[in-house]
Amino acid sequence: ANVSGMEIETKPDITYDKIGGLEEQIREVKETVELPLTEPELFEKVGIEPPKGILLYGPPGTGKTLLAKAVANETNATFIKIVASEFVKKYIGEGARLVREVFELAKEKAPAIIFIDELDAVAAKRLKSSTSGDREVQRTLMQLLAELDGFESRGDIGIIGATNRPDILDPALLRPGRFDRFIEVPLPNIDGRREILKIHTKNMSLDDEADVDLLAELTDDLSGADLKAVCTEAGMFAIREKRDKITVTDFMDAIDKVMSKSKEDELFKT
Ligand code: ATP
Repeated sequence: ANVSGMEIETKPDITYDKIGGLEEQIREVKETVELPLTEPELFEKVGIEPPKGILLYGPPGTGKTLLAKAVANETNATFIKIVASEFVKKYIGEGARLVREVFELAKEKAPAIIFIDELDAVAAKRLKSSTSGDREVQRTLMQLLAELDGFESRGDIGIIGATNRPDILDPALLRPGRFDRFIEVPLPNIDGRREILKIHTKNMSLDDEADVDLLAELTDDLSGADLKAVCTEAGMFAIREKRDKITVTDFMDAIDKVMSKSKEDELFKT
């Protein structure tokens, strides 16, 4: 199936050691998604149902997709990603059918992880006044709820939703047996930034002064995705000046650039 807004990877190459600063979140994801896939008998013995769906929430670029991919890697599962906002935009009148197809595909390819990014696009609280666009979103959500309720969580399919706006989600989606575990994925603190910078500078040739401790201090408020951009930009500055070592100044310029870029994005956000 080659549907835009859907991405399938047989076994993503992201491992937990490529994720910086989210130890607690990794532990929770292992317990709630990985364990049911790898040792379903544990849940049978104890006599409880494994969680069906978990919700990762937090600002953009903090590693939600990485976490979902790492689970798929660790469990040798097929990774099926859908971006909910693209689904409702591109496939008017077909959102519900596509949701059905995604779940069918997951059953076929099991073990599988279904990752639904920007879940809020199909799962915002129901509004009273409704345009035909709203009704389309409603139908897609209803189908998603039906799929969640309909399938037995034998553990071979894990469902992970992600959103930046947990506050606007329809409570129906968050009931037990649906997305009933929530894991916050916040912006990294200084230790997290140091870990993330270590990962992204691993193959870079840095000047002695440009160490990750200093860089972590200079990058307050930046996300993992921003930090990765900083590393790339710093490398570009060095290339432009035909140097093969990246200096603190390169990083400072890169930090300025990435910070002003994220301010711009903030301004133009619709
Ligand atoms: P969105 O909500 O925008 O979909 P996300 O939380 O899913 O964002 P990712 O797609 O996981 O963010 O992150 C984007 C990129 O940023 C990653 O591919 C990685 O290079 C980098 N990155 C983000 N967070 C981390 C992290 N915790 N450790 C290492 N790299 C990170």
